[in-house]
Formats: sequence, structure tokens, C-alpha cells
Amino acid sequence: MHKAPRGTLDILPEEQAYWRYIKQKIIHACQLYGYERIDTPAFEDTSLFNRSVGEGTDIVEKEMYTFEDKGKNKITLTPEGTASICRAYLEHGFHNLPQPVKLYYITSIFRYERPQAGRYRQHHQFGYEAIGDDDPALDAEVIDMAWQFLKSLNLDHLSLQLNSIGCKKCRPLYLSALKDYYMSNNQNLCPDCKNRLERNTLRLLDCKNPQCQQTANAAPKSSQYLCPQCDDHFKQLQRYLTILDLSFVVNHRLVRGLDYYTKTVFEIQPETEGAQSTLGGGGRYDDLIAELGGKPTPAIGFATGIERIILNLKKQNVSVPPLPKPQVFIAHIGNEARDFSIKIAAILRRNGIAVIVAGGSRSLKAQLRQANNFGSHHVIIIGEQEVKTDTVILRSMTTAQQRTIPINELPALLQ
Ligand code: AMP
Repeated sequence: MHKAPRGTLDILPEEQAYWRYIKQKIIHACQLYGYERIDTPAFEDTSLFNRSVGEGTDIVEKEMYTFEDKGKNKITLTPEGTASICRAYLEHGFHNLPQPVKLYYITSIFRYERPQAGRYRQHHQFGYEAIGDDDPALDAEVIDMAWQFLKSLNLDHLSLQLNSIGCKKCRPLYLSALKDYYMSNNQNLCPDCKNRLERNTLRLLDCKNPQCQQTANAAPKSSQYLCPQCDDHFKQLQRYLTILDLSFVVNHRLVRGLDYYTKTVFEIQPETEGAQSTLGGGGRYDDLIAELGGKPTPAIGFATGIERIILNLKKQNVSVPPLPKPQVFIAHIGNEARDFSIKIAAILRRNGIAVIVAGGSRSLKAQLRQANNFGSHHVIIIGEQEVKTDTVILRSMTTAQQRTIPINELPALLQ
């Protein structure tokens, strides 16, 4: 028996109500904040991610689905959404449009991770990017949209965590102070952190090991090393968030897992569970477009995992509207009635009424039971007599009342 590959999920019909609910809220939020949809390929040249996500990151080092195709091209299934959007921005000359260009996507993300609840090898992200503006008011707007979107799903008990990790000018100073600090605390670090110390010092701050967390708590803070521009940007951002009435926590250990971030980084987490189950995160990436060959172009974005949103909706017992089902079921007795039922179904569907026709030739009782299982409101019953008189029996499943209706009156009545 074949099974879905480890770390992947079938999205079954019973789950689809959640997906539709979330997608409707996405469309609404994007419309409110002025984002347009973009879809990019499920794979890109591997070099795009090496360049953007960064060689020293977990994603590039351990998690990418990379292969050589039959034309000897090195290909990677998208491990995150931002790099493709920036590639598309450059490829299609979007710098000629009024800035910032605001784009959103819903896409499959592939990462070779150790599967567990809320962590899969293929998941789906809704993300959005505002490219071409460095105003901290835009950072605040991007954060506000993320927050309002999650709230619009009726999720509660969320916490907004914020930090600034500086820019090319001030970050080296901070990194050097951080490295010195960790070198002198080397004996307290887990093997993973010891490994990362040289290549990706920032990531030591979000290690989940309890002893490393203690060490991280006392580490130098990036906000103490910001250059005047980054410092002002961070202060302005906090001022705008206050105007927007958003509460936030400045979390000095928040760094995010990708190399391209500059200045603002933020995450939204369920209050009770912390960073392990982050609902979404984002930040500014002012150097990425230039890194990919464009002119220096500041930008900021956010992404959230749809499967993880669904887990939280279920945990918080948020009910979502059920998907519409056919309300009319056609039962038939005898061969002629069966042919007639096919005709009636066609007439109703052409009039926009969704119907299910009973399969096979079971007893009327069995067919009514089936209609009940489908949750149909009405059953149309067709026997010999109805075929002869061009009528049907219409039965209400709630009251069990039945009446005979001429077929030419049926569509209007059911509508
Ligand atoms: P990231 O691109 O790592 O910042 O992830 C953005 C969001 O995607 C996270 O906050 C999660 O909601 C979700 N996410 C990330 N990785 C996974 C995964 N392996 N499985 C399910 N959801 C994920």
C-alpha cells in the first residue's frame, strides 16, 4: 500500500472548509491593504536561494529539496516565498511601477525537516511583500495587516514580538560583540550552538536548549548597537505601532532564520506556546534586491503557515462556516424512474440547483437513509406513476411532508 511521503498531508474534503475560510480572509485582507496576487513556479534555480536565504542557514544547509533535472539544471523546490517574489520583481521590471509594489502569494513550501505536529516537509504559506519603500510607517502597516488578518480568523491569545537587527553598517559591530560574548561562554553551549558560533552567530539567540536560552538572555542586545538611522527607524516603527493601537513586546532574542533580514524583524506567536509554534513572521530585507542584481531597493514582508493556522483554529475551537452541499437528493424506484431521474437532475442543475442522484437500485428506505447521511434538505422521489404523469414527489427531510409537483414547476419551487 502506498502512503503519502513522510511529512506531507492529504488535505481531505472534511478539512476544506478551513482552507476556504482562510483563503477568503486572505483575499479580504489583501484587498483592504492594497496587495495584488502573484503566483511563481514551484521550483527555481538553486542559486536563487543560496544567494538570498544564505549559505549558512538551516534551510540552505539541510532542508532544501534540490536535484539536477534531465537538462543538468540545478533546481530547488521553493523553501520560502520571498526570494521568488524578488526574482519576479526584477525579471518583470516592477521597479518602473509606482513604489512600493505590493504583492501576495499562497504557495507550497518544501523543507526537509523532522516532521512533528505543525511541522511538515510540504506546507503552504500565505505571504506578502511590499517592495520599494523604507518608511517605518510601511513596516507598521505590514505588521498591522498580519495582526488584523490573524484576528479576522477569530484567533485569540496572540503575542506580537518585535526586534531590530540593524543594517550592513551596524550589524558587524553587533555580531562581533555577540561572538565575543559566546566565545567566553563556550562551555555552556549545546553542540549545535558550538557548531553555529562561527558561521551563524545570530541563530544562537533562538536556540531552544534551556541552558542556551539562559546564556542568550544575558547576551548583548542588537538594539544597543544600532546606527543612528536604524535606531531612529526602530523608534519610529514603535511610535507607529502605538498609533495603530497594537501592543508588542520587544524581544531581543528574535532574529529569524534567514540571512536577508535587516532592521525590523517580527513574529506573531500563540501566547501559551512561544516560539516553537510561531504562527507567522517577517521583516525588512533592504539589501536583498541589490543582492539579486537589482538597484538598491528596500522591502519588507510577512509569511504565515496555513496548516499551523488551522491547528490553532482547532485548538481554540473556532468554528468555520461549512461548505455548501447539494440540498436535493433524487431517489428512484424502477428502471424507467432511474432514466427519468437523470433527466430531472439535468434540468435542476441547468437551473443552478445542486443535486445528488441515488446510485444503483436500492430500496426506497435505503435511498432515504442515504439522503439523510448527505444532509439533504429535500428528496425528490420518482416511481412509475410520476414518470407517466411528468411529476415528482417532493419530500421535506425535516418535516417528512410529501407533495406531488409537475416537473415544469420544480426548478422555480426549489430555487
Ligand atoms: P518561515 O518562512 O520559517 O518564517 O515560516 C513562516 C511560517 O510558516 C511559520 O511561522 C509557520 O507558521 C509556517 N511554517 C514554517 N515551517 C513550517 C513547516 N515545516 N511546517 C508547517 N508550517 C511551517
